[in-house]
Amino acid sequence: MQSPYALPSDLTPVRDRLRAVFGPQLANHRLDPLSQMIRALIGTRTYDEVTWAAFIRLHQAFPDWETLTTAEPDGIEAIIDPVVGADQKARQLPILLRVIRLKRGDLDLSFLAHEPVDEAMDWLTRLPGINPKIAASTLAFSTLARPVLVVDPHVHRVTRRLGLVAAGGTARQVYDDLMFQVPQGWTEADLFELHWLLKPHGQSICSHFDPACALCALKDICPRVGVSHDQDREVLAFGGRDGASGR
Ligand code: SF4
Repeated sequence: MQSPYALPSDLTPVRDRLRAVFGPQLANHRLDPLSQMIRALIGTRTYDEVTWAAFIRLHQAFPDWETLTTAEPDGIEAIIDPVVGADQKARQLPILLRVIRLKRGDLDLSFLAHEPVDEAMDWLTRLPGINPKIAASTLAFSTLARPVLVVDPHVHRVTRRLGLVAAGGTARQVYDDLMFQVPQGWTEADLFELHWLLKPHGQSICSHFDPACALCALKDICPRVGVSHDQDREVLAFGGRDGASGR
């Protein structure tokens, strides 16, 4: 994989500085891959606590995801509301599951544990409604535990301000450029941790509207120290808003 703007990796000092602030980030509970995909899809542009509550209600209503393939969108919407875009997500979910079943014969995504990561990302992002962030979270946060960095709006904003990725790239280009910079020997646990360090950093310090550069553990390595949001228009490829990115 080649990148037009990849720099020598700065991910290790970023990880180490943020770990000193937030502590080590370890994976605990993991969903199966299909559940994680559904959770990520309904969580787009929605706060995590709202998403988790909606996901739990949805899973209680459809304990066997197979029954979701024939569910009425209106009924799904009533269950997942108030996630952002509940009506659109309610229409997407049965279609997504039916396409998976058509392509695979069932809803089992465990085969993705054995595919090369790039091919697994490609397979997932060809599914309707599955963007690179949802695909990456399906691979990285589920029981698949693949070595993939989940790039949400917070991760994107922080890494862009750090100069690790260029502004204006698509979500997949940003993902590819960051993956290109992953140090040799990093595991899925390292990438899981990097996401869960960058995300709270973006939520609490390197926020969109008022980055607290004076308090930032990365200010000695950040070329954008002192930036304000007026100088720093967000790239919209990730469709997020400050504080809400979904898992
Ligand atoms: S120095 Fe400022 S712009 Fe750079 S990462 Fe820290 S908070 Fe963000």
